[in-house]
Amino acid sequence: MCRHLAYLGPPIPLSDLLFTPPHSLSRQSWAPTDMRGGGTINADGFGLGWRFEEHFIRYRRSSPIWTDAGLPALAAATRSGAVLAAVRSATEGMPVTEAAVAPFADGPWLFSHNGRVAGWPDSMTGPAAELPVRDLLTLDAPTDSALLWALVRARLRAGKPLAEALGAVVAQVAAAAPGSRLNLLLTDGETIAATVFGHSLSYLSTAEGGVLVASEPLSPDPAWIPVPDRSLLVATPSSATVTALEGGAP
Ligand code: GLN
Repeated sequence: MCRHLAYLGPPIPLSDLLFTPPHSLSRQSWAPTDMRGGGTINADGFGLGWRFEEHFIRYRRSSPIWTDAGLPALAAATRSGAVLAAVRSATEGMPVTEAAVAPFADGPWLFSHNGRVAGWPDSMTGPAAELPVRDLLTLDAPTDSALLWALVRARLRAGKPLAEALGAVVAQVAAAAPGSRLNLLLTDGETIAATVFGHSLSYLSTAEGGVLVASEPLSPDPAWIPVPDRSLLVATPSSATVTALEGGAP
Protein backbone atom coordinates (compact mmCIF):
# COMPACT_ATOMS: atom_id res chain seq x y z
CA MET A 1 0.00 0.00 0.00
CA CYS A 2 1.45 3.25 -1.08
CA ARG A 3 5.11 4.11 -1.19
CA HIS A 4 6.41 7.32 0.28
CA LEU A 5 9.66 9.21 0.78
CA ALA A 6 11.08 12.35 2.34
CA TYR A 7 14.34 14.20 1.75
CA LEU A 8 16.17 16.94 3.64
CA GLY A 9 19.54 18.38 2.70
CA PRO A 10 21.27 20.38 0.00
CA PRO A 11 18.78 21.25 -2.76
CA ILE A 12 18.45 18.53 -5.41
CA PRO A 13 16.24 18.19 -8.49
CA LEU A 14 12.99 16.39 -7.68
CA SER A 15 13.85 14.00 -10.52
CA ASP A 16 16.68 12.63 -8.31
CA LEU A 17 13.91 11.16 -6.15
CA LEU A 18 11.11 10.56 -8.64
CA PHE A 19 12.75 9.34 -11.84
CA THR A 20 16.54 9.05 -11.99
CA PRO A 21 17.46 6.37 -9.41
CA PRO A 22 17.13 2.72 -10.45
CA HIS A 23 14.33 2.17 -7.92
CA SER A 24 12.88 5.69 -8.00
CA LEU A 25 9.48 6.53 -6.53
CA SER A 26 8.05 6.38 -10.05
CA ARG A 27 9.37 2.84 -10.49
CA GLN A 28 8.06 1.93 -7.05
CA SER A 29 4.60 2.94 -8.27
CA TRP A 30 4.49 0.10 -10.83
CA ALA A 31 7.23 -2.28 -9.62
CA PRO A 32 7.37 -2.10 -5.82
CA THR A 33 9.30 -4.97 -4.25
CA ASP A 34 8.22 -4.99 -0.61
CA MET A 35 4.47 -4.41 -0.30
CA ARG A 36 4.01 -7.06 2.42
CA GLY A 37 0.63 -8.15 1.14
CA GLY A 38 -0.76 -4.63 1.02
CA GLY A 39 -1.70 -4.30 -2.64
CA THR A 40 0.37 -4.78 -5.80
CA ILE A 41 0.85 -1.46 -7.59
CA ASN A 42 0.48 2.17 -6.58
CA ALA A 43 -1.60 3.63 -9.39
CA ASP A 44 -4.30 5.63 -7.58
CA GLY A 45 -2.53 8.94 -7.62
CA PHE A 46 0.68 10.63 -6.58
CA GLY A 47 1.66 13.72 -4.69
CA LEU A 48 4.72 15.87 -4.19
CA GLY A 49 5.36 18.57 -1.63
CA TRP A 50 8.54 20.59 -1.66
CA ARG A 51 9.86 23.66 0.06
CA PHE A 52 10.20 26.74 -2.09
CA GLU A 53 11.59 29.78 -0.28
CA GLU A 54 9.61 29.88 2.99
CA HIS A 55 6.67 27.65 2.15
CA PHE A 56 5.73 24.29 0.69
CA ILE A 57 4.32 23.83 -2.79
CA ARG A 58 2.11 20.82 -3.46
CA TYR A 59 1.35 19.01 -6.71
CA ARG A 60 -1.07 16.08 -6.60
CA ARG A 61 -3.02 14.03 -9.11
CA SER A 62 -5.43 11.11 -8.83
CA SER A 63 -3.86 9.31 -11.82
CA PRO A 64 -0.74 7.09 -11.96
CA ILE A 65 2.53 8.99 -11.80
CA TRP A 66 3.68 7.46 -15.10
CA THR A 67 0.77 9.05 -16.96
CA ASP A 68 1.83 12.63 -16.22
CA ALA A 69 3.77 13.39 -19.38
CA GLY A 70 4.94 16.78 -18.20
CA LEU A 71 6.22 15.69 -14.81
CA PRO A 72 9.71 14.41 -15.71
CA ALA A 73 10.74 17.77 -17.18
CA LEU A 74 9.09 19.68 -14.35
CA ALA A 75 10.86 17.51 -11.78
CA ALA A 76 14.22 17.93 -13.49
CA ALA A 77 13.83 21.71 -13.42
CA THR A 78 12.66 21.97 -9.80
CA ARG A 79 15.17 21.84 -6.96
CA SER A 80 14.45 21.73 -3.28
CA GLY A 81 16.12 20.90 0.02
CA ALA A 82 12.94 19.59 1.67
CA VAL A 83 10.64 17.15 -0.11
CA LEU A 84 7.90 14.65 0.76
CA ALA A 85 6.35 12.54 -1.99
CA ALA A 86 4.01 9.57 -2.25
CA VAL A 87 2.35 7.22 -4.74
CA ARG A 88 -0.99 5.80 -3.67
CA SER A 89 -2.74 2.44 -3.78
CA ALA A 90 -6.20 3.27 -2.48
CA THR A 91 -7.47 0.94 0.21
CA GLU A 92 -10.62 -0.82 -0.97
CA GLY A 93 -13.73 1.22 -0.33
CA MET A 94 -11.86 4.53 -0.22
CA PRO A 95 -12.31 7.21 -2.87
CA VAL A 96 -9.78 7.75 -5.63
CA THR A 97 -9.57 11.53 -5.67
CA GLU A 98 -6.82 14.10 -5.60
CA ALA A 99 -7.86 15.20 -2.12
CA ALA A 100 -7.15 11.71 -0.76
CA VAL A 101 -3.56 11.67 -2.04
CA ALA A 102 -0.61 12.49 0.20
CA PRO A 103 1.10 14.69 1.09
CA PHE A 104 -1.47 16.23 3.37
CA ALA A 105 -0.31 19.71 4.28
CA ASP A 106 -0.83 22.49 6.75
CA GLY A 107 1.45 25.43 7.51
CA PRO A 108 4.98 24.08 7.98
CA TRP A 109 4.04 20.38 7.81
CA LEU A 110 3.75 17.68 5.16
CA PHE A 111 2.36 14.24 6.04
CA SER A 112 1.80 10.84 4.47
CA HIS A 113 0.40 7.46 5.59
CA ASN A 114 1.29 4.07 4.17
CA GLY A 115 -1.06 1.40 5.44
CA ARG A 116 -4.67 1.02 6.50
CA VAL A 117 -6.75 1.42 9.61
CA ALA A 118 -8.41 -1.88 10.48
CA GLY A 119 -12.17 -1.80 10.96
CA TRP A 120 -12.50 1.60 9.28
CA PRO A 121 -14.56 3.64 9.97
CA ASP A 122 -16.25 2.12 13.02
CA SER A 123 -12.99 1.47 14.88
CA MET A 124 -12.12 5.16 14.74
CA THR A 125 -15.23 6.76 16.15
CA GLY A 126 -13.58 7.06 19.59
CA PRO A 127 -10.36 8.78 18.47
CA ALA A 128 -12.31 10.94 15.99
CA ALA A 129 -14.64 12.14 18.74
CA GLU A 130 -11.67 13.78 20.45
CA LEU A 131 -11.13 16.15 17.55
CA PRO A 132 -12.76 19.56 17.26
CA VAL A 133 -15.94 19.21 15.17
CA ARG A 134 -14.51 21.75 12.73
CA ASP A 135 -11.57 19.43 12.00
CA LEU A 136 -13.98 16.61 11.19
CA LEU A 137 -16.08 18.84 8.93
CA THR A 138 -12.99 19.89 7.02
CA LEU A 139 -11.20 16.54 6.64
CA ASP A 140 -9.28 16.44 3.37
CA ALA A 141 -11.13 13.26 2.33
CA PRO A 142 -13.29 10.54 3.88
CA THR A 143 -10.30 8.21 4.27
CA ASP A 144 -8.34 6.65 7.10
CA SER A 145 -5.21 8.59 6.12
CA ALA A 146 -7.00 11.95 6.24
CA LEU A 147 -8.30 11.21 9.73
CA LEU A 148 -4.82 10.13 10.86
CA TRP A 149 -3.53 13.44 9.54
CA ALA A 150 -6.19 15.35 11.49
CA LEU A 151 -5.15 13.48 14.66
CA VAL A 152 -1.46 14.22 14.08
CA ARG A 153 -2.12 17.83 13.14
CA ALA A 154 -4.14 18.45 16.32
CA ARG A 155 -1.10 17.40 18.36
CA LEU A 156 1.29 19.50 16.27
CA ARG A 157 -0.97 22.52 16.69
CA ALA A 158 -0.92 21.89 20.45
CA GLY A 159 2.86 22.25 20.30
CA LYS A 160 3.98 18.62 20.36
CA PRO A 161 7.24 17.79 18.58
CA LEU A 162 6.91 15.78 15.36
CA ALA A 163 8.04 12.46 16.80
CA GLU A 164 5.84 12.77 19.85
CA ALA A 165 2.79 13.55 17.72
CA LEU A 166 3.35 10.48 15.51
CA GLY A 167 4.11 8.17 18.43
CA ALA A 168 0.97 9.23 20.29
CA VAL A 169 -1.28 8.73 17.27
CA VAL A 170 0.16 5.29 16.48
CA ALA A 171 -0.38 4.20 20.09
CA GLN A 172 -3.92 5.56 20.09
CA VAL A 173 -4.91 4.01 16.76
CA ALA A 174 -3.19 0.68 17.43
CA ALA A 175 -5.27 0.40 20.60
CA ALA A 176 -8.55 1.46 18.94
CA ALA A 177 -8.02 -0.51 15.72
CA PRO A 178 -5.77 -3.52 16.33
CA GLY A 179 -4.27 -4.95 13.16
CA SER A 180 -3.80 -1.55 11.54
CA ARG A 181 -0.75 -0.73 9.45
CA LEU A 182 0.55 2.67 10.38
CA ASN A 183 3.67 3.82 8.56
CA LEU A 184 3.44 7.57 9.03
CA LEU A 185 5.83 10.13 7.53
CA LEU A 186 6.03 13.77 8.58
CA THR A 187 8.36 16.71 8.00
CA ASP A 188 8.51 20.36 8.91
CA GLY A 189 11.39 21.00 6.54
CA GLU A 190 13.96 20.71 9.33
CA THR A 191 13.32 17.20 10.66
CA ILE A 192 11.74 14.04 9.30
CA ALA A 193 9.79 11.80 11.70
CA ALA A 194 8.55 8.42 10.54
CA THR A 195 6.92 5.38 12.08
CA VAL A 196 7.37 1.81 10.96
CA PHE A 197 4.29 -0.21 11.87
CA GLY A 198 3.43 -2.98 9.47
CA HIS A 199 5.25 -1.80 6.34
CA SER A 200 8.82 -1.35 5.14
CA LEU A 201 11.01 1.75 5.57
CA SER A 202 14.71 2.53 5.08
CA TYR A 203 16.90 5.60 5.31
CA LEU A 204 20.13 6.84 3.78
CA SER A 205 22.58 9.53 4.81
CA THR A 206 23.69 10.82 1.42
CA ALA A 207 27.29 11.49 0.48
CA GLU A 208 26.31 15.13 -0.15
CA GLY A 209 25.11 15.65 3.42
CA GLY A 210 21.38 15.01 3.09
CA VAL A 211 19.06 12.40 4.49
CA LEU A 212 16.55 10.32 2.57
CA VAL A 213 13.77 8.21 4.11
CA ALA A 214 11.79 5.90 1.83
CA SER A 215 9.45 2.90 1.84
CA GLU A 216 11.98 1.09 -0.35
CA PRO A 217 15.64 1.99 -1.04
CA LEU A 218 15.95 4.03 -4.23
CA SER A 219 19.20 2.30 -5.19
CA PRO A 220 21.20 -0.82 -4.35
CA ASP A 221 23.62 1.35 -2.29
CA PRO A 222 24.50 -0.75 0.80
CA ALA A 223 24.44 2.43 2.91
CA TRP A 224 20.62 2.24 3.04
CA ILE A 225 19.59 1.19 6.55
CA PRO A 226 16.30 -0.68 7.06
CA VAL A 227 14.25 0.48 10.05
CA PRO A 228 12.81 -2.38 12.13
CA ASP A 229 9.09 -2.85 12.52
CA ARG A 230 7.41 -0.96 15.35
CA SER A 231 9.97 1.84 15.50
CA LEU A 232 10.09 5.58 15.29
CA LEU A 233 12.77 7.25 13.16
CA VAL A 234 13.78 10.87 13.68
CA ALA A 235 16.17 12.13 11.01
CA THR A 236 17.88 15.37 10.08
CA PRO A 237 20.69 15.85 7.57
CA SER A 238 23.17 15.41 10.43
CA SER A 239 21.55 12.79 12.66
CA ALA A 240 19.21 9.80 12.73
CA THR A 241 17.80 8.00 15.75
CA VAL A 242 15.56 4.96 15.90
CA THR A 243 13.54 4.12 19.01
CA ALA A 244 10.98 1.42 19.79
CA LEU A 245 7.29 2.28 19.42
CA GLU A 246 4.57 1.36 21.83
CA GLY A 247 1.45 -0.30 20.45
CA GLY A 248 -0.21 -3.57 19.57
CA ALA A 249 0.82 -6.05 16.90
CA PRO A 250 0.39 -4.72 13.36
N1 GLN B 1 -5.39 3.66 3.40
C1 GLN B 1 -4.78 4.76 2.73
C2 GLN B 1 -5.56 5.13 1.50
O1 GLN B 1 -6.37 4.68 0.98
C3 GLN B 1 -3.32 4.53 2.41
C4 GLN B 1 -3.20 3.42 1.42
C5 GLN B 1 -1.86 2.86 1.25
O2 GLN B 1 -0.94 2.88 2.04
N2 GLN B 1 -1.82 2.20 0.18
O3 GLN B 1 -5.44 5.93 0.87
